[in-house]
Amino acid sequence: MASAKYIFVTGGVTSSLGKGIIASSLAKLLQARGFSVTIQKFDPYLNIDPGTLNPYEHGECYVTDDGAETDLDLGHYERFLNTPTSQANNVTTGRIYNSVITKERQGAYLGKTVQVIPHITDEIKRSIRALGDTGEYDIVITEIGGCVGDIESLPFIEAVRQFKWDVGPNNAIVIHLTLIPYLKSAGELKTKPTQHSVKDLLETGVQPDILVCRSEHPIPQDIRKKIALFCNVHINSVIEAQDADTIYDVPLMMKKEKLDERVLVKLKLSHDKEPDMEGWKEFLGRLKNPSEEVTIGLVGKYVELRDAYKSIAEAFIHAGAQNECKVNIRWIHSETLLPENVENLFEDLDGVLVAPGFGERGIEGKIAAIRYVRENQVPFFGICLGMQCAVVEFARNVLKLDGAASTEWNQNTSHPVINMMEDQKKVTIKGGTMRLGAYPCDLKKGSRAAQVYGKSKISERHRHRYEFNNQYLEAYEKAGMTATGINPDTGLVEIVEIKDHPWFVGVQFHPELKSTVMNPQPLFVHFVKAAVEYASAKRLVVR
Ligand code: GLN
Repeated sequence: MASAKYIFVTGGVTSSLGKGIIASSLAKLLQARGFSVTIQKFDPYLNIDPGTLNPYEHGECYVTDDGAETDLDLGHYERFLNTPTSQANNVTTGRIYNSVITKERQGAYLGKTVQVIPHITDEIKRSIRALGDTGEYDIVITEIGGCVGDIESLPFIEAVRQFKWDVGPNNAIVIHLTLIPYLKSAGELKTKPTQHSVKDLLETGVQPDILVCRSEHPIPQDIRKKIALFCNVHINSVIEAQDADTIYDVPLMMKKEKLDERVLVKLKLSHDKEPDMEGWKEFLGRLKNPSEEVTIGLVGKYVELRDAYKSIAEAFIHAGAQNECKVNIRWIHSETLLPENVENLFEDLDGVLVAPGFGERGIEGKIAAIRYVRENQVPFFGICLGMQCAVVEFARNVLKLDGAASTEWNQNTSHPVINMMEDQKKVTIKGGTMRLGAYPCDLKKGSRAAQVYGKSKISERHRHRYEFNNQYLEAYEKAGMTATGINPDTGLVEIVEIKDHPWFVGVQFHPELKSTVMNPQPLFVHFVKAAVEYASAKRLVVR
């Protein structure tokens, strides 16, 4: 078996240039040429994982099948490649130090002084190889978070330098992503920041093989020549990455710039077959030529930062394309919602999604939203905390259980319809201790869920500590809210539905995490479909 080839993606000049999208796009093109590819992300911060970070700090926490709490870029990797990632795909400085220090305590380095070089860099190199050594991949792409020149990313860049040397030429390359700003007053694209950023890389002993240059304008030949000259790269390896309408355009833009071809030449891999991007192009065709349009209200408490709901927003794009429908998201802060203003705010919505979340802030707004959509037959989709709020709303307003709540925000409630899971009660450590990752779920025959998924057994990903309190199940089912998805091993309620409603579904899991371009998530697809039907029925009434 030939060993894997490695591609490192670094970034310079500024953050937020879209390393994750460039890495995903390149991976997509290589996959479309028949290579087996995976992408991993190294994050230079000291948290062991982003699970304990506030979404305002770092955006959404993306959960993998194996229950790892990871960086949101892994979501892009899965959405583009349609293959699952795992803990090995996301490593932080904290995780690296943690394992070195644990080994030190176990005596693995007895007698030695433990140092950044070689111990930390060796551990980084081990993590780079972890995926390649499985034998599953032809190519491993490693995205290094942060910017070159940052103190924090130095050990990673040093490990890349060593790694390139260890595996020898044509087995590992470095792609550096930079910015070519346009100076309006001079009317010119400027290469100096890129030159400096490459100098930073060179200072650490790393010569980039390919430069991907973000720019708001096309980069003419003479500027490419200048960049090539100053940065020691071939002019064909200066790749333009202009701003795109949608991130899903980027693979085809990179194909046009021949990024995949340059990579394969440098890695001495065959590039005689063109990438098969037919399915992808079909998706783009549907995405860009919608025949319908709906507006969905997304009710959450982190709406100021869109990245906090990244996977939900992307799942709507996939589901919209599938329905040939443009899905506009109206971001609604749950704290602004009151029973008195819901009607006004929701008047022109075609569906409402109540988002996942933690803690008490904004809960009453979410409950007011759910009451309105339940009573007014507006399509509703509740995810995790959104499902729990739907359960509480039903208890208060249909079952007439005054003061019903989740014990997450009211420990002394007389009706704990949502309660902490038994095994969570013993948990004292915060990081990585929720119910995380993929669990099976059985769907009730004849339910909406079973019809939507088209099967009776599913597996979805989780991230929660609280659950539906089964002591109340009978009362709910009698009153019209049924549990249609159940974990076969624990009896935990995974899905609730209301039958006498055009679309009222709450799920304890996170379906958005498994939506990909090639495999839009069925609940999202059918929720959008319900919104389209609701919108056209509304038009008829207005006429
Ligand atoms: N806070 C709730 C729980 O822990 C919901 C979590 C979520 O929405 N991801 O159960």
